[in-house]
Amino acid sequence: MQQDKKNKMPYLRAYTEIDLLAIRHNAETIKRYTGRQLIAVVKADAYGHGAVPVTETLHPVADMFAVATVEEGIELREAGIRKPILILFSCLPAQTGPIVEFNLTPSIGDWGFAAALNEIAPETASTKVHLNVNTGMNRSGVCWTETLQFLSKLKTLPSLEVEGLFTHLATADEVDKSFISVQLKRFSSVLSDNDEKKVHVANSAAVLAVPESHFDAVRPGLSLYGIYPATEKPILLKPALTWKARIGWISTISEGEGVSYGLTYKAPYPVSVAMVQIGYGDGYPRALSGTGEVLIGGMRRPIIGRVCMDVSVVQLEPSDKVAIGDEVVLIGKQGDAEITVDAVAQRAGTIPYEILTQIGTRVKRTFRPVAHNNVD
Ligand SMILES: *Cc1c(COP(=O)(O)O)cnc(C)c1O
Repeated sequence: MQQDKKNKMPYLRAYTEIDLLAIRHNAETIKRYTGRQLIAVVKADAYGHGAVPVTETLHPVADMFAVATVEEGIELREAGIRKPILILFSCLPAQTGPIVEFNLTPSIGDWGFAAALNEIAPETASTKVHLNVNTGMNRSGVCWTETLQFLSKLKTLPSLEVEGLFTHLATADEVDKSFISVQLKRFSSVLSDNDEKKVHVANSAAVLAVPESHFDAVRPGLSLYGIYPATEKPILLKPALTWKARIGWISTISEGEGVSYGLTYKAPYPVSVAMVQIGYGDGYPRALSGTGEVLIGGMRRPIIGRVCMDVSVVQLEPSDKVAIGDEVVLIGKQGDAEITVDAVAQRAGTIPYEILTQIGTRVKRTFRPVAHNNVD
């Protein structure tokens, strides 16, 4: 295989570099800052960073992991992860088998699932569950007004043990924090002082901006990966993902010539252009057509014309010394310049969460340091 001489990596058309030490730093910093248990959210393949290596890296720091689906939980168990794994969203009665088999911790949001789980769970070793309380997000959970009654009904199911109680905030990343107080008040109405249950509420935005939401454990996702969900930045987080591609073709086009589908860009004078081997088929947003930027040789260069499925075109400056095969940074640092996930998301009219989780399977994920098994 052709080797990149500098870092001895096999030649890759487009790839991400995941800095696992940055993720570990972020988790440790969040834990120190809050002083609470850490439920590390690694759903959606750890926000595009790789669920198994990220979970292995965080195993010594996290008290529990959280995923969105039963399949995501199974993937971690099959990789040898032994810490508790919470499933954040409602599961269906048809999924009770694997939940018990792989020792996953489901969240309970309705009676039908709880009853079905109790049916098949062994009575000898009680299956731990967390009760999801709907306090106003209105996408899952038991309504706060019915929670106390629901909890006493759950006590009649001998195979289940309610280990935790949680809710999710709808507006923690917004400037107006008034609805947070409403949700916290509703949530507090179902808590009792002498309860042993693990209580958790705070997503990343609440970790950073709403200390009264920290309770027994915090439940951050985005901030583990070094990205701030809002303007509050009380701790230093390190971005963990760099996204790179390569130049595949270089040319100079005459004045008046167009570029890419629809010829939406027209050269105002003879212009040097470079094709970059990245497109929406790699999860690079088509919304960046004519508005995105990349780093080439440590300089910002604009995307001109439409982003295609496999490639995009950027405008070069006459002073640029570039060659086919050179690395282009889509997200991350090159020289003194940096393009943040936030900047890309803003230009694409979306949020960092979507940019990260859309990075496609054609983009090879690499790790620094090399991923190692940390589960012991
Ligand atoms: C995704 C999710 C989180 C983590 O949210 P971030 O904003 O990424 O910190 C926490 N709790 C629930 C229920 C979630 O769905």
